[in-house]
Amino acid sequence: MSADYDDVMISLGLEPSTPRNAPAEHGERRSYSNGCRCAECREAWRRYQADWRASKRRDKDALARVKHGTTTTYRAYGCRCEACRAANTAAMAAYRARHRKPATAGGDDR
Ligand SMILES: [Zn+2]
Ligand SMILES: [Zn+2]
Repeated sequence: MSADYDDVMISLGLEPSTPRNAPAEHGERRSYSNGCRCAECREAWRRYQADWRASKRRDKDALARVKHGTTTTYRAYGCRCEACRAANTAAMAAYRARHRKPATAGGDDR
């Protein structure tokens, strides 16, 4: 699920949430994202989320200044205003349209 999302981000020229090739070690939130639920990774994740929430609170100000209606704002700032959601939806749709498989097994000819 998140891998698909990363593909979308890459296709949009944005950075994926996780570097592809760097191995994650226990105690890193990436390891948690990769599915590990050991105590170290859970703790790292918990800290990350707390951090993220705190930074979001700090970013309230920034959010008032950034341009809305962009996927960057949607993703980087976690903005879910109507303009940003629409931008994200459009980007996802464009991505899907671009990556739609050529019609082979019928169903595309009406
Ligand atoms: Zn772990
Ligand atoms: Zn917004």
